[in-house]
Amino acid sequence: MALMTPDQYEDSLKKRNPRVFMNGNKVESILENKNTRTVVEANKASYAWALDPKYKDIMTVFSPLVGEVVNRYTYLSASIDDLVKKAQAGTFTSEMLGTCIYRCVGYDAFHSLASTTWEMDRDLGTKYYPRFIEFLKTVQKKDLSIAGALTEPRGRRNQKTLEWPDPYLSLKVVDKKKEGIVVRGAKINISGAYACHELVVLPQSAHPKEEGDYAIAFAIPPDTKGITFVCQYTPFSAERELSEDIEELGNPLFGQRETSMVIFEDVFVPWEKVFHCGETPYSAKLVTRFPDPSHDLRGNL
Ligand SMILES: Cc1cc2nc3c(=O)[nH]c(=O)nc-3n(C[C@H](O)[C@H](O)[C@H](O)COP(=O)(O)OP(=O)(O)OC[C@H]3O[C@@H](n4cnc5c(N)ncnc54)[C@H](O)[C@@H]3O)c2cc1C
Repeated sequence: MALMTPDQYEDSLKKRNPRVFMNGNKVESILENKNTRTVVEANKASYAWALDPKYKDIMTVFSPLVGEVVNRYTYLSASIDDLVKKAQAGTFTSEMLGTCIYRCVGYDAFHSLASTTWEMDRDLGTKYYPRFIEFLKTVQKKDLSIAGALTEPRGRRNQKTLEWPDPYLSLKVVDKKKEGIVVRGAKINISGAYACHELVVLPQSAHPKEEGDYAIAFAIPPDTKGITFVCQYTPFSAERELSEDIEELGNPLFGQRETSMVIFEDVFVPWEKVFHCGETPYSAKLVTRFPDPSHDLRGNL
């Protein structure tokens, strides 16, 4: 069965070493830092529920893609019932955790990537859809945790991207090589991304033709060279850091929702993990189908 145990998830993180900073200090271990630990605990709960007979109906589903039962947070909805269960899973995890289930943005991203890569291939002859499906099969078989990154710092909201004095306030392709692309820029407010196995990156917004370098989507492990996470540091973070007993805190195990700025300093992404690169009319579809997987497809449901 393609389901990881909570301990296997924790062990998988020990093999990774993302570059993380909080309150000006380097986080040497996201498993040990009191604040980043809450993200690990929340994700661990999603692995535990999938193996618990009490919760398996909400947290697991049979995936025809791999012919196995998978964690719902790796699944691609294919019916109205699936979408209802997707919403129910969101309510269930929120009630149980009292904070974010850090696998949800990646789960949403699968839906917009599946339909939009398929459409790009149909309309433009690109080869993104089979690439994305291969990636998703790996996610399902290995029961990976996927975070999602859309939001960007951006410049003045009343200016166009190309008018900003700093072109890297949005994530941008700076080089295209035979083996892949090189990206520079940042994503901001990204939930729990340092504790994922892969970060799925989508565009922040629609892009006109001249903004082709910003029209990108891809997947990347969080400890890839050139990626840095700068965590939020709130009064809740300080309180947890100073607390000698987490039972004194409002949400002892799972804490507040943890986000970070994700900085990409000339990060190489191999073509096998690139799902959108320059096809500007499709950036908006990736964005609008992210919060609403039935968007544009309602006529077919
Ligand atoms: C706790 C938390 C967790 C998050 N987790 C994630 C995550 O995991 N992944 C991720 O990708 N994002 C995440 N986000 C980001 C979140 O989705 C964004 O904050 C949200 O999309 C709004 O973007 P913004 O903050 O840039 O606001 P802005 O775009 O600055 O918007 C501010 C206000 O101005 C309005 N506005 C903006 N531009 C214009 C315009 N041109 N014309 C008129 N009105 C305009 C908006 O409608 C809004 O009301 C998270 C945010 C928070 C707070």
